[in-house]
Amino acid sequence: MFKKLSILLSILLLVCTNSDANQCQTAQVKLQVLGSGGPELDDGRNSSGYLIWYKNKARVLIDTGSGSSIEFGRSGAKIEDLQGILLTHLHVDHSADLPAFIKGSYFTSRNSDLSLYGPGANDLMPSTSNYLQRLLGDKGAFAYLKGYVNKRTDADYKVVATDVPLIKGQSFNYSLTKDILAKSTFVHHGPVAAVAWRVELAGCSIVFSGDMSNQFDVLSAFAKNADILVANNAVPDNASGAALNLHMTPSAIAKIAQKAQVKQLVLSHFMNRTLKIQKETQGIIRAKYRGPIQLATDGLIVNL
Ligand SMILES: [Zn+2]
Repeated sequence: MFKKLSILLSILLLVCTNSDANQCQTAQVKLQVLGSGGPELDDGRNSSGYLIWYKNKARVLIDTGSGSSIEFGRSGAKIEDLQGILLTHLHVDHSADLPAFIKGSYFTSRNSDLSLYGPGANDLMPSTSNYLQRLLGDKGAFAYLKGYVNKRTDADYKVVATDVPLIKGQSFNYSLTKDILAKSTFVHHGPVAAVAWRVELAGCSIVFSGDMSNQFDVLSAFAKNADILVANNAVPDNASGAALNLHMTPSAIAKIAQKAQVKQLVLSHFMNRTLKIQKETQGIIRAKYRGPIQLATDGLIVNL
């Protein structure tokens, strides 16, 4: 009897231990907003940027919009600790600070290669690797920094770019380290090449919609059961025309968050047209999505 009970207890313990291993280790992972605004000059916010902290080190940088490099420094993050930079697309408000990050790293002790991931090319936009070449390559605007992409003679490390294929409905996996996985999928952002990102670490998952309309209807599956979905709130519910072709409405965000059963929703990438109606937007989303909603601000730390 006692033996049977002890076997039962060991099985129970094993099951509990296993399920714990799959659970999000909330104490180890944090999301920090570096930029919660869009491209406008008068919104008082940095353009897009996010940081994932893991065991008190800044490990993954998502988007490098203008101002994000300043907030990065303010956050206490060290570029030496970064395992990868993930770009959602190459619009100015998501990518303009990339050379500032690389130049800034000159004054640090970073000496290991830095992985950069972003969308492949389409008719309108260059690929991420081409973007890097056009900025820092031999004939780039900042060719004085070419050591960071071409040669290693005058730079301590190299930025290694990978282009995410733009194939609707497929997702691609990139291991940043043995315990940090980045997944990416093609999203519709008008004529712009764009991807969403899902970062998985310590049993937690954080999804970044980037700028997108929901015309491909891929985000709810991509964000399934995520601990956090960062959704870009660039347009109001009555958006039309070009704005609607580029961005998802609050109703679309609500539908995605509800369908994906995300544990927490963070609204970000505000523009003047959405900043002034944040309460109304939350009301629209709450009607469909019952989980907690946070409004991003620059520097905000979001716990899982
Ligand atoms: Zn944007």
